[in-house]
Amino acid sequence: MVREDRPADPSQPGYDVSQQRIRQALAEVPVSRETEDLDDAAMTAGERARPRASGTIYGTPRRPEPYESGVSADDMVDVSGSASAPVPDPLASERTTAVPIQAGGSVSRETELDDDDLPLAMEARRAVQILNPSGAPLIPRPARRRVMCIANQKGGVGKTTTAVNLAVALALHGSRVMVIDLDPQGNASTGLSVEHHSGLNSIYDCLTDGLPLSEATQQVEGIPNLLCVPATIDLAGAEIEMVSVVARESRLKRAIAAYEEPVDYVFIDCPPSLGLLTVNALVAAEEVLIPIQCEYYALEGLGQLLRNVELVKAHLNPSVWISTILLTMYDGRTKLADQVAQEVREHFGDVVLDAVIPRSVRVSEAPGYGQSVMTYDPGSRGATSYFDAAKQLAERGAAAGGKA
Ligand code: ADP
Ligand code: MG
Repeated sequence: MVREDRPADPSQPGYDVSQQRIRQALAEVPVSRETEDLDDAAMTAGERARPRASGTIYGTPRRPEPYESGVSADDMVDVSGSASAPVPDPLASERTTAVPIQAGGSVSRETELDDDDLPLAMEARRAVQILNPSGAPLIPRPARRRVMCIANQKGGVGKTTTAVNLAVALALHGSRVMVIDLDPQGNASTGLSVEHHSGLNSIYDCLTDGLPLSEATQQVEGIPNLLCVPATIDLAGAEIEMVSVVARESRLKRAIAAYEEPVDYVFIDCPPSLGLLTVNALVAAEEVLIPIQCEYYALEGLGQLLRNVELVKAHLNPSVWISTILLTMYDGRTKLADQVAQEVREHFGDVVLDAVIPRSVRVSEAPGYGQSVMTYDPGSRGATSYFDAAKQLAERGAAAGGKA
């Protein structure tokens, strides 16, 4: 339902922001020319298969330049998992995505339906598919470790929720996943029910004292393939303490590179700032995943984030690129959510995942139980949409020969 009673005053809640204003916000987003003259012939077929928009830092291939500190992307430990073709979805004819995408990238408003309106049988079928008790691999594993930084300096856009739910979805389907909580608030640690009281081995010790990642890693209960490196409140002082540390921007990269256990995905849950912790994440990662809330203000500041990625790419980590944008907290009842989703798709193209995460009470309730929505309510729309997002993320990686 589209609300017709919108106030004309921009300061009022519910003000209908015009497409033009959204475009203005996106026009601020920088477009780099730096990668335009990449030698196409030098690209592998896998790299060519990557979704990319020419001349931008998103969707561009990795540049094979050596990393200054001597740690190159190739030093990262490969895992022996084999890349496989996209796995057909046996329930494809029965399932609906959480927010059906219509031709042309617009998003339908069918999300007005509550979870309760779903036929019980379909909900149960979705739950079984997500929890995957048979262990059938519906999601391909990458041929090589993918380190993904989940960043957006705005708070409350769904970074932690995305890190936790994608990690659980992939782990339930056979990938080995590590979540690194890089936010002093420790929300990802809470969401995965991992201990993170002050004084416990945590990512803080890895960054400031060089503690091996393996000594801070905890197994997530109930999800065999999922590991978490927690953040304690000690991390709040890390940015200041690290100022005098040698190679302070690449502490996390070194820690991850030295972790030799096989891991398919490392998700780094960033704090809501662009400080040294986020810079460490951008230096450590090859891929950046940006969750964007389907609201007007969500686009403000996006330009700044992209400029930061460009700076890190230019000076510290030539391999980094924005591989994925995920639209979160989509509210089908508002026209604005549609406008934002549509404009973001037009601006960023294929980098934006098809799956859109709806605003859902179930998603926000789950962390209170120390769970992801995947396990808290696996039949819900929130769980289904995160499962779809995880599947597409994995399939893109497999299509790019595991080099994504
Ligand atoms: P960030 O890590 O970017 O600060 P969070 O993932 O912590 O954002 O999300 C902020 C708040 O919004 C949390 O309370 C979370 O439970 C809630 N939330 C996240 N995604 C959704 C969603 N799709 N629907 C409803 N609430 C959500
Ligand atoms: Mg967070």
